[in-house]
Amino acid sequence: MPSKRPTPDEPRTPAQAPHLPLSAPLTELKGVGPRLASALNKLGVKNIAQLVAYLPMRHERQEAEAPIDQLKPESIVCTRGLVSATRIAARGSRPRFEAVLVDDTGRLDLIWFNGLYLRDKIHVGMKLRVQGKAKRFGPGGSSLQIVNPRHEFIADTAESEPAPRTARLRPVYPASEDISTLQIEKAVIAALDPALAQITDHLSDDYRAKRELIELTSAYRAIHTPATQEQADEGRRRLAYDELLLLLLAVRLKRAQRLARSESPTLKLTPAIDKAIRARLPFTLTGAQDSAIAQIVSDLARAQPMNRLVQGDVGSGKTAVAVYAMLLAVANKHQSALMAPTELLAEQHFASISRMLASANVRTLLLTGSLSAPQRAEALRAIAAGEVDIVVGTHALLTHRVRFNSLALAIVDEQHRFGVHQRATLRTKGTDDADNDTPLKPGEKALTPHTLVMTATPIPRTLAMTIFGDLDVSTIDQLPPGRKKVTTRVVAPPLRQEVYDFIAQRVAKGEQAFIVAPAIDAKNPDPDADLFDPRSELEHDAPEKSTATPAAPPVPIRSVAQIASDLKHSALKSARIGIVHGQLHPADRARIMDDFRQHRLDVLIATTVIEVGVDIPNATVMVVEDAERFGLAQLHQLRGRVGRGTKPGVCVLIGAPVTDTADQRLRAIAKLADGFKLAERDLEIRGFGDVVGIRQSGMPPFRVVNLASDLDLLNLARRDAIDLIDHDPPLDNPQHALLKRRLLKAHAKWLGIADVS
Ligand code: ADP
Ligand code: MG
Repeated sequence: MPSKRPTPDEPRTPAQAPHLPLSAPLTELKGVGPRLASALNKLGVKNIAQLVAYLPMRHERQEAEAPIDQLKPESIVCTRGLVSATRIAARGSRPRFEAVLVDDTGRLDLIWFNGLYLRDKIHVGMKLRVQGKAKRFGPGGSSLQIVNPRHEFIADTAESEPAPRTARLRPVYPASEDISTLQIEKAVIAALDPALAQITDHLSDDYRAKRELIELTSAYRAIHTPATQEQADEGRRRLAYDELLLLLLAVRLKRAQRLARSESPTLKLTPAIDKAIRARLPFTLTGAQDSAIAQIVSDLARAQPMNRLVQGDVGSGKTAVAVYAMLLAVANKHQSALMAPTELLAEQHFASISRMLASANVRTLLLTGSLSAPQRAEALRAIAAGEVDIVVGTHALLTHRVRFNSLALAIVDEQHRFGVHQRATLRTKGTDDADNDTPLKPGEKALTPHTLVMTATPIPRTLAMTIFGDLDVSTIDQLPPGRKKVTTRVVAPPLRQEVYDFIAQRVAKGEQAFIVAPAIDAKNPDPDADLFDPRSELEHDAPEKSTATPAAPPVPIRSVAQIASDLKHSALKSARIGIVHGQLHPADRARIMDDFRQHRLDVLIATTVIEVGVDIPNATVMVVEDAERFGLAQLHQLRGRVGRGTKPGVCVLIGAPVTDTADQRLRAIAKLADGFKLAERDLEIRGFGDVVGIRQSGMPPFRVVNLASDLDLLNLARRDAIDLIDHDPPLDNPQHALLKRRLLKAHAKWLGIADVS
């Protein structure tokens, strides 16, 4: 739909608006003093360009204001008045906050269910504007009330302002304690004309017309000051498209650069090699493993560096796929490296790989942070001399001092636990000197290893498409045969002893159990746990988000130490019990894990150090204490520690969710067994930015895009990005200069796009 709003070609010159450069500080704006400017600074807004780019979260209809005695019952009304009384009423289970609002004409009762958080915010004598559905109550319907009204404080400076007599659509900005959305709106309006006069669209009229996108400055105007919801939506659509296009273009650009500037050893598979590798594996590969391997093998046969993600649910057998690829590299006389996020997992991988290769002529080595200095020096020497074929390690592999002789393949396990920068560092560990920054001559290519990243935290398709667009994705969507289902139960804390009784029964049958807690002891929470604080979640659940944390005492969490002492008085008092957590000496931890693996222990009390990868088929029970505190991905990973053998697994989540989102999380995990479905549910519950993998990636959060609802736009932008890069690979066409400048500004840094043209 063509826009009726002014385009930049129409006379809206800087001369009309007061001239302010885009970098002008906010205090240059009429009505913005040092106090508001500093409040905006805290929201990340420093100049007028950033102010115009600070977008509303949504738009709300603001009704015309009326005096209290003219409010119509049973309709949405808006009024302002003075708070004359407040109280907390604890009728029923949910405490509520009540306030009385008065004006010259009458009295209005306000009730907020679950509104305790308002107790520190709304006081007698304050001026409020409220909006909501008015209802009659009391004897004969004589009184008027609004339940859960939207409310807004009216500052004294605004006193002189007349109450709006007409309804309007107003933008709602992310605000703070120091500045209200209304104040932000006023500042934005002051910045709009001078800023937009200097903004040029990076998309041509023709390009936009084909996609029904409105012009850039019109879009900003529409989203900040819409007359109708349709206008706001049009503005949002254009800005969301831009956000996606810039991101996807940057990712494609990065890919094009990577492919143009580097190459990897070509690794050939022969039937003989394939046969030899399979003979080493203690089982027949599943069809899903085979197809992932086929994709990897075809990548590795080319000089173009592989950059592939293997995603497969917990227990789907990713390690075997990694081992296959590493042995292929070895067969081609090159080195390969496997990096795991924890020492525990690195040790386990090393042990199982060594077992498979016991009688083979393949040299393996474990490199972790806990090697002694002489051991480490010797390891580094052997790696550099090419005396080692397969190196398994932690991020100790990433230090500058590790040099490979000829690294052909770098694998990162449980990739979501690392940041992008760590992954990129491993990639620079090719045969070329990693620290050599001499620029390549034209046509020259750097040698880099092929990279394979593996994750059991499945990334919903849409995310994989955007953020990991630089990766090819293989999915292992099948579990090895004979795998038993894991039953998940949510149990309230008072039933804890019954859970222990249940474990005791399983232990009596010769099975083993994990009990996971979010803290080591009373003083040390588990640093690796991805925990939620129910207090901050309560804030989040509250109708109006606030930044202040109420001064409630910290909520205690269960610790490994406490559970160990509780078990002494339970059905498990004579069971053999071990404890592992991140603060143990690595040698002690390895010994305890080995004891558990060899069934010299029945129950392992642990923090989330055992979250990833730990593979002990005889363990059948996973108990998670304070389960409502853990993220969905982490719970699913923990649950994946059991049911790995032939006996059915049980996962017991002990938890008392006090917030809606915690409740949703526990229900989701109890109901959904499939990691992919859970990941999608997680996305719905937590939103995009919080999903594991995104947070670590360094990717800036979306400002406008909502992946759940912008799928069509995502597909459009994706097609356009591929098309643009295909036709103009480095985006050097002058017609694309502005677009390129903007995308580099937004994404070059976190993606590590080389700043060359
Ligand atoms: P992931 O890393 O994907 O969570 P693992 O690689 O640790 O899974 O494999 C889980 C368990 O399944 C291990 O005990 C492994 O030996 C076993 N396994 C893997 N592939 C197969 C297969 N094709 N057949 C039988 N067992 C398998
Ligand atoms: Mg694994």
